[in-house]
Amino acid sequence: MVIYDLQCEHQHEFEGWFKNTEDLKHQQAMGLLVCPVCGAGNVKKKVTAAKLGRKSNSMITKPPRDSVPQQVATGGTDKSGSADKNLPSYPQLQKMLGQVHKFVESNFTDVGNKFANEALKIHRGEKEPENIRGTASRSEMKTLADEGVSAVPLPPKPVDKDKLN
Ligand SMILES: [Zn+2]
Repeated sequence: MVIYDLQCEHQHEFEGWFKNTEDLKHQQAMGLLVCPVCGAGNVKKKVTAAKLGRKSNSMITKPPRDSVPQQVATGGTDKSGSADKNLPSYPQLQKMLGQVHKFVESNFTDVGNKFANEALKIHRGEKEPENIRGTASRSEMKTLADEGVSAVPLPPKPVDKDKLN
């Protein structure tokens, strides 16, 4: 178990317990991390000064080309090694991500850039509740969070390897 200092987009700080870093990334990717203070879904490991101001909107990074096989570990960090077996590999993660997107696409109504408006209407009872998806700007996300609407940012769609090259 590892404890990470986490921070939501509104700078609320809290602790999260994870099996390891991958578990944290996985939970982020699946949108399972939510700020206990304001319910914002945009939760990250607490940013260090060096990273401040750097915009990052992808929660999963692509491994370098010809990525190292999983069992290759550079010496040193084998403390949590035993748990690694349970971790999804990168292709598995991509598959899971794909499933999340598929699920969202078939179960959520696409409201495009009206997302914030629609979410607020539903939140205020001005509209029949339904699952919606769409896009929202940072300031819209903030408004939603301020209103107590929980919206979960969706990780970027996985890239289909076969379509590359
Ligand atoms: Zn928060």
